Amino acid sequence: MKRRDRTSAVPLDSALSSASVPGMARRRFLAASGALFGAAATAAFWPEISAFAKDTELFLKGPPVPDVPPQRLSEHVWMIWAKDGFPTPENRGMMCNITFAVTQKGVVVLDCGSSLQIGEMAIRMIRTVTDKPVVALFTTHYHGDHYLGAHAFFEAFGELPFYAHPYTKDIIEKKEGSMWLNMLERWTSGATAGTKLIPPNRVVQHGQVLDFGDVKIRCHHYGVAHTPGDMCYELIEDRLVHVGDVAMDRRIANMDDGSYPGSLHYMTELEKACGADALWVPGHGHAGKGVLKWQKELFAGIWENALQAFEEGLEPLAAKELVLKDPRVASKAKETAGWESNIGKYISIAVLEAEKMTLAGKDPMACRAGCRIDL
Ligand SMILES: [Zn+2]
Repeated sequence: MKRRDRTSAVPLDSALSSASVPGMARRRFLAASGALFGAAATAAFWPEISAFAKDTELFLKGPPVPDVPPQRLSEHVWMIWAKDGFPTPENRGMMCNITFAVTQKGVVVLDCGSSLQIGEMAIRMIRTVTDKPVVALFTTHYHGDHYLGAHAFFEAFGELPFYAHPYTKDIIEKKEGSMWLNMLERWTSGATAGTKLIPPNRVVQHGQVLDFGDVKIRCHHYGVAHTPGDMCYELIEDRLVHVGDVAMDRRIANMDDGSYPGSLHYMTELEKACGADALWVPGHGHAGKGVLKWQKELFAGIWENALQAFEEGLEPLAAKELVLKDPRVASKAKETAGWESNIGKYISIAVLEAEKMTLAGKDPMACRAGCRIDL
């Protein structure tokens, strides 16, 4: 399989479902070949790779990530935009936007990238905008492309307050953090090597407001959406909301850990709380005022038809046809990255969710327009 086949169009954390990711078999083989071989393969792939003797232990550090100049989104907020949606050796893991706010109290970073090297690049970019120190990190959820860059920030600024939803903090410590660390290293053929897991060290609750002087950040959580622990961050003065992966810009989010009716409920509540005309900043794709509306339409189109398919007991292919006929879904096919390789799977996940709700004694039809889902 040609490496070109690992198109950047595949969305972000669909990473977890290896079946849909071309090239995965080869990477699995590499991963299974043992640490020694892995290190040698890494060094062979990256001519710029560095080896360091630190703490009497030899370790490898992947190459630097090319600079991505930040774009200004609002008075205080900037974004380092990731053009790709999936980690590859070519993009060195740069697949998730890094957003930062320059406040009276210092720089606050919302989702800090996939690796040490990406965090280092983000710090270089922050330095093109301000000399203020970074004073806090936030992550929106537990997928590693959103927080493994914390290592670079702790190296540069010491131990920082690093905030997350309690579920997210807990599951990063227990399993997701090290799992994502390993997966990103494999998917990038070692470009992220040298990254250490720094889990969040503070929790934030729904409704909590953190005061950074001229910027106040309000935390929002409305149950399961993209994951059970999504926290969205509203920068009140800037009328801007960082939504993580609850909504994406013309990409299909991985719903393996999420919920369709939960997402619809979450987005409806978030819009009510923050105002429909807020600027929505996704973890993937561009920021815009239409991001939430786009995502809600697509999910409503998938979910409502999946419910019908479930009620009628349709076969998977017929269910897919039904969903794809809906204009809210069909209209998005052309403009959505990774559509062909993912839409079938996401329709199955929606039908499966209806089935699971029924097995749990709930009526999925009662959740047609969305409902709060909690673990
Ligand atoms: Zn995610």
